[in-house]
Amino acid sequence: MSLSTIRKMESEVRGYVRSFPTTFVSAKGSTLIDNKGQKFIDFFGGAGALNYGHNNDHMKKLLIEYLQEDGITHGLDFATSSKEHFLKVFEENILKPRNMDYKMQFTGPTGTNCVEAATKLAQIVTGRNHIVSFTNGYHGHSKGALRLTANQAYRKGLENDIGQFTTFLPYCGYMEDDFSSLDYFDRVLSDPGSGMDLPAAVILEAVQGEGGINVASDEWLRRLREITKKHGIIMILDDIQAGCGRTGDFFSFEKSGIDPDLVTLSKSLSGYGLPMSVLLISPELDQWEPGQHTGTFRGLNLAFVTAAEAIERYWADDSFSKEVKKKSKLTFDLLNEIAEEHPDVIKEVRGRGMMIGVELENDDWADEVGAEAFENFLIIETCGSKSHVLKFLPSLTIKEEEIREGVRILREIISKIKTKKS
Ligand code: PMP
Repeated sequence: MSLSTIRKMESEVRGYVRSFPTTFVSAKGSTLIDNKGQKFIDFFGGAGALNYGHNNDHMKKLLIEYLQEDGITHGLDFATSSKEHFLKVFEENILKPRNMDYKMQFTGPTGTNCVEAATKLAQIVTGRNHIVSFTNGYHGHSKGALRLTANQAYRKGLENDIGQFTTFLPYCGYMEDDFSSLDYFDRVLSDPGSGMDLPAAVILEAVQGEGGINVASDEWLRRLREITKKHGIIMILDDIQAGCGRTGDFFSFEKSGIDPDLVTLSKSLSGYGLPMSVLLISPELDQWEPGQHTGTFRGLNLAFVTAAEAIERYWADDSFSKEVKKKSKLTFDLLNEIAEEHPDVIKEVRGRGMMIGVELENDDWADEVGAEAFENFLIIETCGSKSHVLKFLPSLTIKEEEIREGVRILREIISKIKTKKS
């Protein structure tokens, strides 16, 4: 019944409900339950917003207490006790142990809002317009963020408005030789005859999510950082999907040792699926005038409560990070086994931490597998410019047996695809 209401009332723009056509009523951990009482294993994880599972008990308890005590829910950017607590916890557990020095800006609640703030600040500080992004990069759907998003399908109908402001360079792994494109970048920036304007910023993901789960090597990231420093270009690291522990470390880039000027965080920052975004700003770039980038919803206090708990509980030491890496190894091992069994179906298993992509030999197959997985009570998304990669983004708290069961379902579907096609 509800789906007919959704079909009738909700705009044609609706998306995921088409891939997962049922009405969900409750969720816990890595399980979603629909109105027929059917239980689904969730390998989608709220597109990266549910790193600690649905309705995490630790966060829920604090949230209920906070609501019962009439804690502030909406407070513009007033000082509130929940904001102060979150800031302290973030400084103590995330920034200090990593020797990081950033100011924190609460932007509007979506990832896109944060990307807008980052690029706007980079343009204001440098007085330059041009931004460099990368092939298969994804940074959101507002018009500013769409300029930086590679997939042409998302820019349909807007080409004349937003087409010309960004240069897209090859991301790591896009060309045979990763470094020649960075050498090219360095060269054109050094040559006044090259035709390329000095960009205000480069924006990139250290592991691309929507673009197909593409991992940049540490060496590539370091070389890019060297170039941006040499030419005075601001580096914006978009950690909206790959951050907050998704790759096994809190930040996706920390393993490489680079120090981006601006870092965008959102999705799993609140820990509970509540909307929240933060822009980390190197202190010398914090050149905003008071109120220059304002808005009604900047910093949901309920999200501060759960975010502080998520960080204190999971990031005070490295035990959770180790656990994530262990689960990652298990998932990779299981998927690689299927890939070995079915080399004519699976092209590649790739990724880092619990951000894993399985590219299939035929571009249509990932969608077919996803649809069949849903019929078998497994929720899994696809990604990549042709929707040709199965994307594993389960919560980081998922149980080992849930990983095994989900992969077992996929294995069956994949063997059937092989029989169907051969
Ligand atoms: N940047 C990245 C890397 C993302 O993965 C996303 C969302 N998939 C965004 C930005 C945009 O975030 P939101 O959907 O919350 O606007």
